[in-house]
Amino acid sequence: MVLLLVSCRSAPVPAAPALRDFRGVIHVHSFHSHDSRGTYEEILAACKKRGIDFVCMTDHPPKGDPGRSLREGWRGLHDGVLFIQGAEYGDQIMALGIREPISSRSRRERIEKIHAQGGVAIVCHPEEVDDWNFDGFDGMEIWNTHAIFKELLSDPKALLQALKLAREDLEGAWMTVLRRPEKNLAKWDELNKVRRVVGIAGNDAHQNTNVMGVQLDPYDVSLGFVTTHVLAEELTEEAVLRALKEGRAYVAFEWVAPEGTGGAVTTVVEALREEVTVGGRPWIYRNPRGR
Ligand SMILES: [Zn+2]
Repeated sequence: MVLLLVSCRSAPVPAAPALRDFRGVIHVHSFHSHDSRGTYEEILAACKKRGIDFVCMTDHPPKGDPGRSLREGWRGLHDGVLFIQGAEYGDQIMALGIREPISSRSRRERIEKIHAQGGVAIVCHPEEVDDWNFDGFDGMEIWNTHAIFKELLSDPKALLQALKLAREDLEGAWMTVLRRPEKNLAKWDELNKVRRVVGIAGNDAHQNTNVMGVQLDPYDVSLGFVTTHVLAEELTEEAVLRALKEGRAYVAFEWVAPEGTGGAVTTVVEALREEVTVGGRPWIYRNPRGR
């Protein structure tokens, strides 16, 4: 009894380090992917322009040498921007924070191998998942920009309008495709009834779409449009991945920010709303707390 009292008194609880808000982008491709020619310098310049603190690179594994992008891609801080390496696999599983390429016969096995490397496993392109009979992943894309653009292809009138606008006002053209991602949100809610599944945005940035001489998806637009913020102790790979895993994260459509906020969203988010809209447009989706 005495020992217990002594040990209680002599073990002061250390103060938890303050959390800071870091703006990031997840699901980004470079020239290491077969469907992008983008360079790291271009990605860095776009991040600097848009005030982005961290980038989760997710190249498709290069054919013949699936580890090349992980080996040669940037890691760590570059001019103040943190680069984290990962990969996007054809089974809609995305790895964040891995060092070695992963082969597997099932999603479950892939997720286990990602975790064995200390990485975060995210379901990407959830609209393409044919069978949800697997578990263990940390999070899912509640937004994927590429999927929304694919939807636009089935609406020729909206597509034409966006293309016309893109010539003079590319950001405005992108805003015409912003809508509530109903199906993904429904799936997210369904999964979160059973356990925590962290929602993030997939920028799915390639800088590879040029229509009639207009580059529709330069990095500075695809990385500026939507972001995933984390609340972390510091800007390191370890702290950012831990924040993502624990759901200290929210998705923000940066250009919807109301006048006067300057895009600084944390104070609004602290008001404990999980979804914030502005003028009927989604602005923020925040992960549920306390789960
Ligand atoms: Zn992708």
